[in-house]
Amino acid sequence: MAEGAYSLEHLDLGAKDDHTSVDQAFLALEEIKFQWQATLDAISDPIAIIDKEYRIVRSNLAMAEFTPHKDVKKIIGEKSYKVFADLDQPCEGCVVGQVFTSSQKQDYVYERSSDGKIFEITSFPLSSRSDHSTPAAQPSVLNVVQVYRDRTLHYQMEAKIRQHDKLTSLGLLASGIAHEINNPLSGILLFSQMLLKELSAKDEHYGDVMEIEAAAQRCKEIVRQVLEFSRQPTHKQTEQPEELSLRELIQNAERFSRVLKVAKESQVIYEWHNSEIKILGCRGRLIQVFINILKNAFQAMPDGGEIFVSQWQECLDGKLMVGLEIRDTGVGIAKEHLCRIFDPFFTTKSDQEGTGLGLAISYGIIQELGGDLTVNSTPGEGTVVRVYLCSATDYPPLKGLESEDDVP
Ligand code: ADP
Ligand code: MG
Repeated sequence: MAEGAYSLEHLDLGAKDDHTSVDQAFLALEEIKFQWQATLDAISDPIAIIDKEYRIVRSNLAMAEFTPHKDVKKIIGEKSYKVFADLDQPCEGCVVGQVFTSSQKQDYVYERSSDGKIFEITSFPLSSRSDHSTPAAQPSVLNVVQVYRDRTLHYQMEAKIRQHDKLTSLGLLASGIAHEINNPLSGILLFSQMLLKELSAKDEHYGDVMEIEAAAQRCKEIVRQVLEFSRQPTHKQTEQPEELSLRELIQNAERFSRVLKVAKESQVIYEWHNSEIKILGCRGRLIQVFINILKNAFQAMPDGGEIFVSQWQECLDGKLMVGLEIRDTGVGIAKEHLCRIFDPFFTTKSDQEGTGLGLAISYGIIQELGGDLTVNSTPGEGTVVRVYLCSATDYPPLKGLESEDDVP
């Protein structure tokens, strides 16, 4: 044991009966208390010891970090679910009660709704001292020790891998079907157009043929999108990545979206605060991505609204990336839909408004360019889409550009 440190084993409380020994004992107990707290505080995962009523009896600094007070003293006596998840009752699936009755360690996974963080929570029974000395006796659980591990990144990575696998197999299937449909469809389109040329506009069948031609055009567009999604070689894919201005691309995409007449009364507000950093990408494909994202945002605001666009740079896994955020004030995405929006053909729109391919295609393009695309949303408030692309500038970042601190 280090000099000056105390432990209960070295403490002989009954040895002397004078003031010195009492003082020493007191000092030793203080030191032990300090050491225990320091040990708990040294652990970066939040830890709380809670009683049957879910009140925090003891906690470490990391636990206090979760609270607005950031102070251990202020959370002692508070309900753990209030402190940890800002709830008025125990979190869904909480196993604390079971630990008290079974005296067994229990694990569960909890997703905090306020910030979407995912925690693996382990609850250990803390038995009374007398129970340790009498192993035969049924141990009674005094308190429960809860350890919270933030596993958000791990679960996100897992979801991404699953998504990637799903998209790859769906892409193969979809491209096979699209190829098969393409030829007969071209025939329908060609013959309907020939018929239209031959028929007079007054002919009783003219309107019907017009309908056939319009439907065939729409199918053709869907087939084109499916092939794009499954990344079959098309002329676009021969594009080589080049240095591009994201600002120019998104402004270009906005002009296209306006031509597509989906923009209605909505405004796009560009929030460029610092000088621009160029990215590496393919112009045509990125404009397609931004049209998809803007179109979704415009469609989410049928009575008009605002779209805020901002940009920053960020170092991710040692690589300098440029982030672009497109935030709308639209209807938002329901939680149960959010995990499906990258699935091909997942749409909440009518046949005329959506095919469910926009985000699946955009995600594929951004991944191919070595970037990332994320979507967060609060129903009723709006949606935030973030696109990360590789910077054309070498690391370290140039001075005068947005820094990591500017990440919104
Ligand atoms: P589509 O637009 O053809 O439906 P997408 O792949 O572009 O297909 O989008 C899939 C779904 O994601 C949409 O149907 C919609 O429910 C949801 N979505 C995407 N972006 C937004 C947004 N900005 N606001 C609200 N919902 C969105
Ligand atoms: Mg769309």
